[in-house]
Amino acid sequence: MINILDQLPTGILDVDAKDLHQFLDNHTLVRINGRIERPLFVSILQHGDETTGWDAMKALIKNHKSQLPRSIYLLFGNVEAAAKNLRQLDDQPDFNRCWPGLHRQKNATAEKMAFITDMMAGIKPFASIDIHNNSGRNPHYAGINSLNGEFVNLASLFSETIIHFTSPDGIQSGAFAQFCPSVTIECGMSGTADGIEQTHTFLENLIQLSSLKTIPGVAEHQQVLNIFSTVKIKPEVSIGIAGETVDEVDFLINDDLDYLNFHLIEAGTVFGKTNNKQVPMPFTVTDQIGHDITDRYFEQTENEIRLKQKVVPAMITQSIHAIRLDCLCYFMHPLSH
Ligand SMILES: [Zn+2]
Repeated sequence: MINILDQLPTGILDVDAKDLHQFLDNHTLVRINGRIERPLFVSILQHGDETTGWDAMKALIKNHKSQLPRSIYLLFGNVEAAAKNLRQLDDQPDFNRCWPGLHRQKNATAEKMAFITDMMAGIKPFASIDIHNNSGRNPHYAGINSLNGEFVNLASLFSETIIHFTSPDGIQSGAFAQFCPSVTIECGMSGTADGIEQTHTFLENLIQLSSLKTIPGVAEHQQVLNIFSTVKIKPEVSIGIAGETVDEVDFLINDDLDYLNFHLIEAGTVFGKTNNKQVPMPFTVTDQIGHDITDRYFEQTENEIRLKQKVVPAMITQSIHAIRLDCLCYFMHPLSH
C-alpha cells in the first residue's frame, strides 16, 4: 500500500525538499528509532511547496545524531510536487483533504491515508504534528480540532495563536484527533528562517516531554480562536488583485488585504471592487455545516464589497491560484476558556 522504512535513506539529510523524490516516493513512512519507544508522528510536505517541515526535521535529526530522545514516524507527503515547487500536481487531489473524516473517500490517495491512519491508531503516538506553510502574511499559528487540554497544550508549545476548527473534512490532524493529541502548525511563508527556527524549537521541546497534561509556563497565555466560516469566491466570477492584475476582471480584490489577518476588522471594511453593478456578490460565506451566511457578512454598495460586521479573518491569501484551489480566507471569533 505504502513504503515503510525503518531508517532514513543515506544522504537524504543533505538535500532540499525539491530533491527528496530521488530518495523516496510519495507517502513514504519512515520510522526513526529513539530512546522512548512510543513515537511522535510528524507529517511534512502534504503540500509540495511547503518546505519548512522538512527543513525543521533535518535540523532536529542532525541535532540528535546518536539517538533521538523519542522515536518518530515521519510521513513524507507530496515529494513529486515538491520537485516542481507546486502545492500539488494537476492530476492529484489535495492530499490534506483525503484523510478519513466524516466520509471515507474511495480514491487511491484516500485509501493510503486510511491505511496510515489505521496503522497509527494501533500504535497510538504520543502526539501528531502536521507541518504547513501559508501563501499569505499570517502570524505562525497552531490549529486544533479538539478543545481537550492536551490538544491546547500541544498547540501552545508552538504558538500563543491557536485556532480551533472542525472543517474542512479530510485533514490529517482531524483523522488523528480520534486517537492522539494532534495539531496542524502553520509556519508562515515557506522556507523563511524564522518559521524553520520556531518549528525546530517546537519539535525539540516536544520530543523531550513525557506528558502533555500540564505544561508549565504556557497555559496563562493561551487564547483560542474559533473558525466559524469560510469565504470562497464564486467560480463564475473572474478575479484579480488591485495593482497587479492588468486584464479586465469582474472583481478586483484589494491589494494587501492579507495585512488584516488575525486583526479584528470593523464593519464597513472594503474587500474589493466589482467592475460594474451587474456583477453579482462575488463571495460565498458558509458556516461549518455548509449553510450560506453571506448576507450576514457582506454587502454590495455601488461597486464596493463591504464587510457588514466585525470579524477576525485568517489565512487571507493574495494568490489567485490558492484562492481558486481553496478559499480566500476564514472568519474567526475568540473563545473564552
Ligand atoms: Zn499546506
